[in-house]
Amino acid sequence: MKTLLEVLKDADSNQVAIGHFNISDLAGLKGILKAASKLNLPIMIGTSEGEAGFVGRMEAAALVKMYREKYNLPVYLNSDHTHSLEGVIEAANAGYDEILFDGSKLAFEDNVAQTKKAVEIAKAINPNVLIEGEIGYIGSNSQIIDEVPKESLNLTTPEEAKKYVEQTGVDIVAPAVGNMHGLLKSMVTGDTFKRLNIELIGQIRQATGKFITLHGGSGTKDEDFVAAIKAGITIIHINSEIRLAWRKGVEDALSQNPTEITPYKLLTPAVEKVAEVVEKRLKLYNGLA
Ligand SMILES: [Zn+2]
Repeated sequence: MKTLLEVLKDADSNQVAIGHFNISDLAGLKGILKAASKLNLPIMIGTSEGEAGFVGRMEAAALVKMYREKYNLPVYLNSDHTHSLEGVIEAANAGYDEILFDGSKLAFEDNVAQTKKAVEIAKAINPNVLIEGEIGYIGSNSQIIDEVPKESLNLTTPEEAKKYVEQTGVDIVAPAVGNMHGLLKSMVTGDTFKRLNIELIGQIRQATGKFITLHGGSGTKDEDFVAAIKAGITIIHINSEIRLAWRKGVEDALSQNPTEITPYKLLTPAVEKVAEVVEKRLKLYNGLA
């Protein structure tokens, strides 16, 4: 089985992107894996601090490792938006393949200092763990939101990104390039889409020479994803879209079976809905759409 670093290098040279999908439960994980194994593509599973609080970091790591071996599927685990050094230590010890240390709300110098510490601590525990750092705040909720967070309009500059990467030693960088966490109501209905600054993505890629992650991908125009991958995006995060799919699946199950109380029967439609969204996204990221 290839390491996450090897998989990212392959994706980068083939101009495709690795899909990163968050989980809150086994239904979501099964849906994501169903799509990935159908297409036989590498994927990343993420747990945010909230998700890890519910699932458990050791539990998530054990599940991903088990599925990787059972299905011989290149599936990797990322500790998404880890805000504390304690969280970094816990994820590194649990065996996560990647840790995103998120100091994006801090002032630039503080973000650099904290991220540098996170890199040192995590690599001391596991030299192979990849560390992602984030610059530029893009909102923090993978939910349905009323308005675009003002801060997400401040885009990351290539100079800032270069300085940040050099001073912290991160392997992967997550910039603000027009992306945003969460979905506006008009994005849920498909009336509006997020648009990305493709030129800026190319400039940041060139200035840093690092893998670049696109966070907050839900609700982005398909053509922007394709152009962003060409410009240098190697990992794409989708969370709100799969949370929405999960909810729709559960709602359908509840309304169609008003007396059903068996959890696995009520959750099976959620698995299917999540799998549909993930399959569509993976095809797009891999030029199969
Ligand atoms: Zn994110």
